[in-house]
Amino acid sequence: MKREFQQALAAKGRDRLPNVLLVSAECAPISKTGGLADVVGTLPKSLAALGIDARVITPYHRCVKDRYHDQVEHMFSFSVDLGWRSQYCGIERLVLDGVTIYLVDNEYYFGDRIYRGGMAEGEQYAFFTRAVLDAIPNLGFFPDILHCNDWHTAMIPVLLRTQYGLYVHGKMKTLLTIHNIAYQGKFGFDFFADMLRVDERYYTSEFLELNGCAAFLKGGCVFADRLSTVSPSYAAEICTPYYGEGLEGILNARRAQLSGIINGIDTKVFNPFSDPLIAKTYDRGHLKGKQACKEALMLEMGLHAGPRTPLIAMVTRMTGQKGFDLVERVLDEMMGLDICFLLLGSGEWQYEQFMREAEERHRGRLCAYIGYNEELSHRVYAGADMLLMPSRFEPCGLSQMIAMRYGTLPIVRETGGLRDTVKPYNMYTGEGNGFSFANYNAHEMKATVEMAVNVYRGQPDAWLALQKQAMSEDFSFARSAGDYARLYIEML
Ligand code: ADP
Repeated sequence: MKREFQQALAAKGRDRLPNVLLVSAECAPISKTGGLADVVGTLPKSLAALGIDARVITPYHRCVKDRYHDQVEHMFSFSVDLGWRSQYCGIERLVLDGVTIYLVDNEYYFGDRIYRGGMAEGEQYAFFTRAVLDAIPNLGFFPDILHCNDWHTAMIPVLLRTQYGLYVHGKMKTLLTIHNIAYQGKFGFDFFADMLRVDERYYTSEFLELNGCAAFLKGGCVFADRLSTVSPSYAAEICTPYYGEGLEGILNARRAQLSGIINGIDTKVFNPFSDPLIAKTYDRGHLKGKQACKEALMLEMGLHAGPRTPLIAMVTRMTGQKGFDLVERVLDEMMGLDICFLLLGSGEWQYEQFMREAEERHRGRLCAYIGYNEELSHRVYAGADMLLMPSRFEPCGLSQMIAMRYGTLPIVRETGGLRDTVKPYNMYTGEGNGFSFANYNAHEMKATVEMAVNVYRGQPDAWLALQKQAMSEDFSFARSAGDYARLYIEML
């Protein structure tokens, strides 16, 4: 055990590291719709390396059943009370890469999509909430810390405190991590009373009420022992009305119990030195291969320009969050900087359409690949010179970290995790690992792109130094796991 942990435990009068149960609607690689799954899938492995027994409990979704049913072992079953309903619940166990995953089985709730939307989704995760709490005493693994994630699991701390306080698992400490505060699980209060038997005295702004509804996430923010989010800057931002989505009041009140821990990326999967998906491998000492990756990518995407024409890429969901209204406003002006532009993304129709039309206007210089393509994303990260990420808000952001790992310099807006990971180029000291701008303003973005393009064209040595600095950053999960371990110990 690390000396630092030994000392922290001794100060608490403890001699062993805490057991942790991560609770989540999705977990990579078995079920995934977004970054949450990656965190929950990777964190237990990195915690194990620190000596912490961390396990996962997640729904036995259709996609998991289809792929893993041969490897799953049935543990026990019981009935879950969901208001007047009594529903079957099976607990299955899957051990994957040394990590124990408990799967909550019910065909009715988890027989198709991970998220059903609307009230049906509320009922899915009300069931999951109750099932997790009722299953814990029989798992044969008693967690000291219950680590909940996002609104789907945020009512667990509420029920634990208000309904299970006298039971053995009333002793567990709860951590709620907010990956995206915009999704809150809002329903009428009668839903909570009916499904989860929440007493009506909790239907006040002090507890669950939010804009005339009640919200899973608000409950978690009030009742969890500790709160965290996925970057220090986002932790500060969600305490303000602009980013807080109505929860800034309670988060401000609990600021001292709110931490920001940056996510990591899988540095084995994203490694220019060994990536089998890219045209030529390279590392920070030998960047020649990167030029070969760029040429191969330009050829593949039908882009024609000289080798010193900067290639700016975006790899992203196409939503308002990701700054597409800025891109819409100045894309044509940016193309006037004599650049090539490559988009890999999918999302809202109006942005997709805008990018398709832009491709028509700038054929051979701009390519819009509308769709989700993981393999291509590796080639884009390796082949591009810069990655543009002008987000309106960004809890953590992975794309900028992946880009840096491949020596592709990020151009970002200074918000959330982007602010915490990208250090803007300082032309006097040469420090930095990318470029950034402060205000959500299209021409500020364009000026920053122009600056990056000028450094790329006019100061190749400075550019190379920036690339090396970017590639030297540690974005591994081991670093995040250390921060989580410290937090868990603090919570004991
Ligand atoms: P968010 O989770 O808000 O979408 P992140 O930057 O945290 O944004 O994570 C996005 C992840 O999804 C990155 O790993 C990125 O490479 C990947 N990604 C996004 N869009 C695409 C796409 N169209 N094709 C392939 N990968 C994508």
